[in-house]
Amino acid sequence: IYGEKRLNSRGVNLNIRSHYDPLMRAMRECMETTYEARPLLAFDVATDPELVHDVTCPYDRRKKVGSVLWTSKEQAQRAVDAAWAAFPRWDATPVAERAAILRRFAELMEEHMAELMTLCSREGGKLLTDGVAEIREAVDFCRYYAAQAEEIFGEPIQLPGPTGESNELVMSGKGVFAAISPWNFPVAIFCGQMMAAAVAGNTVLAKPAEQTSIIAHRVVELLHQAGMPRDVVQLLPGDGPTVGSVLSGDSRITGVVFTGGTDTAQIINRSLAERQNAPLPTLIAETGGMNAMIVDSTALPEQVVNDVIHSAFQSAGQRCSALRVLYLQDDVADRVIEILKGAMDELHVGDPRDLGTDVGPVIDEEARENLQAHIDKLKGEGRLIAETKLDAAHTADGTFIAPTAFQIDGIETLEREQFGPILHIVRYKARELDAVIDSINGRGYGLTFGVHSRNESFAEDIARRIRVGNVYVNRDIIGAVVGVQPFGGQGYSGTGPKAGGPNYLPRFATEKTVTINT
Ligand code: GLU
Repeated sequence: IYGEKRLNSRGVNLNIRSHYDPLMRAMRECMETTYEARPLLAFDVATDPELVHDVTCPYDRRKKVGSVLWTSKEQAQRAVDAAWAAFPRWDATPVAERAAILRRFAELMEEHMAELMTLCSREGGKLLTDGVAEIREAVDFCRYYAAQAEEIFGEPIQLPGPTGESNELVMSGKGVFAAISPWNFPVAIFCGQMMAAAVAGNTVLAKPAEQTSIIAHRVVELLHQAGMPRDVVQLLPGDGPTVGSVLSGDSRITGVVFTGGTDTAQIINRSLAERQNAPLPTLIAETGGMNAMIVDSTALPEQVVNDVIHSAFQSAGQRCSALRVLYLQDDVADRVIEILKGAMDELHVGDPRDLGTDVGPVIDEEARENLQAHIDKLKGEGRLIAETKLDAAHTADGTFIAPTAFQIDGIETLEREQFGPILHIVRYKARELDAVIDSINGRGYGLTFGVHSRNESFAEDIARRIRVGNVYVNRDIIGAVVGVQPFGGQGYSGTGPKAGGPNYLPRFATEKTVTINT
């Protein structure tokens, strides 16, 4: 990527240096920086060497990105004190001022695009192209929520009443929100959560995923630079048992916005429920998916394969929205599988900074081991259909998993979500369609779903019957766009609110009806 003249496998000239010198410089600078992340709280913290953790690159574990100082329990408690104290002042700040900070922050992220996307690769193992999409999504969240907030929190809504009485509905923040975010979208979801909570008038305690604390630190530095008061949004890097448990156990936390595993959401839910003398909390959770796609015999096999490859393997399958179970109608199954095998042979797994790479590493060794165990089990059962080759020269020192496809009997045979580049394929006969829909609905997850068919009424009927948050017809099932495809699921997949949608901000707000006898 540093500009030697060479072509990628599709013949695209990767020598982009001459055109993008400033961009390349910023990327190189980022690559050469050793970052030191730390809590960004309303007060300064001293460095405790016991709480400093090294961070390495997913694509090469010998390379260090930097270090992160975790937040102690006491600091987390003091941060809650500060957030609690700051709430009334922030909630009374005119919404136009709050929104202006979001817009400035969006501009700063755009200015720092090259650094942030490179950091997404170094610390999060993301492809550079995924990094660009990630920063764009974060920017979109800021601008979208800023505009929404001005509408919702601007003037109170006037309601009808009898002569001599005025009624109005006023929206304001709820209090202190904990924002607990995942490593797979370390900028987009991280910013989406924080900005939704903050622009609605809440103060925010952001706990980033341990794996992507350095990116989070850099982003919150920019946020503070944009004018966000330090006691309004605080950053608490650390682990779940320390920081997460202080946050979900404190009676002053009014709400938690969480994206991550279903199991963790259940732990948070229990911890919130067990608090003594605490008001009833709000939990906004977007959790796992066991996302399916149904392909009938009228679908176009080439298009299906293109969309399946994107949906299952882009971002190394590390998206909640990724395709896990592909249902192929018998008549078309052989053809689709044949093309799929060819397409999987073409995938390049390797360094995410190389523009010729299609699939980067998975996030860490624990993830790699869990995915490998699932792969070994299904291989042991003789279920392997296709597997992309790993080139040891490019993957030996990182946490890589080769994309694989397996034949299974149905979604109900899968015990848990496999958060990586593993595709499961089920063949079905036309007369079994109702049973297929019942088993997808019955599995209990409900995030994304796809249908490929040229029979419009078939696709519409399935879209209506399937119980999920996002349905995609004749396309891939990932990459929801802010303000266009509001994103979030139901059942084991979450509590429902749709990020990037018109009904999201009110979930962070409280409503007050004021009746005046005039
Ligand atoms: N919004 C992302 C998408 O549509 C997925 C978010 C997630 O993985 O949590 O692909």
